[in-house]
Amino acid sequence: MEHRPRFFVDRMLGKVAKCLRILGYDARYGSIETASQIQTLRHEGYVVVTGNTRWRHVPGVLFCQATRWPEQCRKLADAGLVRLEEADPFSRCLQCNGVLEDVAKEEIAGRVPEFVYATAPAFSRCPSCGRVYWPGSHLDKMTDHFQRIMGWNLKEAGKRRSA
Ligand SMILES: [Zn+2]
Repeated sequence: MEHRPRFFVDRMLGKVAKCLRILGYDARYGSIETASQIQTLRHEGYVVVTGNTRWRHVPGVLFCQATRWPEQCRKLADAGLVRLEEADPFSRCLQCNGVLEDVAKEEIAGRVPEFVYATAPAFSRCPSCGRVYWPGSHLDKMTDHFQRIMGWNLKEAGKRRSA
């Protein structure tokens, strides 16, 4: 899956970073201070996404407006940078971008709500920050946006992959 683009998302575009992580894309998140930083990131293979007009015309930079994040995610898809066929939904930590690992139920006892512990069929954990996920835990309003705006059913795509 390493042919997929990696993204460096400007700190002002938190929701865009979250969209990318929901889809399973490597989406680092931080400040962009200098043009040479952008060059370094591009050399490292990152697509730089920013809402800062200062970088708007720098080659290789994708300019997005923060206030319109659902449309921005659509824009990434229209540019061919994100594709449902190559996405791996719910495989990354939304908080820190870590790649989730399967974890035995016993190991996360006491770390999730009791009803979730009793009913969820499987759990995964972020090796970087320790956050625990289960089927459904990634699903929120943003996932609905993918369905409404892009016509992408992430729940089905996620199932297909883990099956
Ligand atoms: Zn994490």
